[in-house]
Amino acid sequence: MPEGDALHRAARRLSVLVGERVEAESPHPRAQVTGVAPRIDGRRLEAVEAVGKNLFLRFEGGITVRSHLRMSGRWRVEPRGAARVGRPWLVLRGPAHEAVLWNGPVLEVVRRPLRLGPDVLTDDLSTVRLHGPIGEALLDQRQVSGIGNVWRCEALWHARVSPWADAVAVDQREILHYAHRLMAAALDGERPRRHVYRRAGRACPRCGTPIRSRGQGDDNRIAYWCPGCQGGGGPPGE
Ligand SMILES: [Zn+2]
Repeated sequence: MPEGDALHRAARRLSVLVGERVEAESPHPRAQVTGVAPRIDGRRLEAVEAVGKNLFLRFEGGITVRSHLRMSGRWRVEPRGAARVGRPWLVLRGPAHEAVLWNGPVLEVVRRPLRLGPDVLTDDLSTVRLHGPIGEALLDQRQVSGIGNVWRCEALWHARVSPWADAVAVDQREILHYAHRLMAAALDGERPRRHVYRRAGRACPRCGTPIRSRGQGDDNRIAYWCPGCQGGGGPPGE
């Protein structure tokens, strides 16, 4: 699943088109109904910005396109006219390059960016005050943006904090530091080892206790944690 680091990589690739006037088309029928391509066709791309898990493409005339990749979306940048098989969601064609969005489940023109919390990779996090169960808070894009399920689980394991712990009772700075460090490494192409994510039932690499998993929060995203060495309690009712 694309997390914030994948979005920042996509923004870097797309930056070759910034300043260029682009031809836009949506070969995929589901993308055609979004009406995005005709709104931006022939306009100059002014900026590409990753904010949390959203990519914002700002065009001249004050038009901003939001692309959220969810599980399956991918942005690629290819030489202009590159051969391809299939129907991408959006093609932005500049003089030398074209950016191609495949399987972009969220593509829309927005008036202004959503209200998102500071980006864990690029912004000053000193003002972030997380609240609620820490595992939910780390995924709440309004509190801090860009952290997906893999890195919230791994950052909490590094910090020895249970996802069920109350955010105000734990060392938030340390947890955010781990999330930032793991994601920055992933952005640079490393593949940080996973200690708990998708390892339910297996031994914790630190203490040997079997790792647990359980859905958490309104979205019921699966939290993975070690009940042996991650303090702060378990799910409600236990
Ligand atoms: Zn453990």
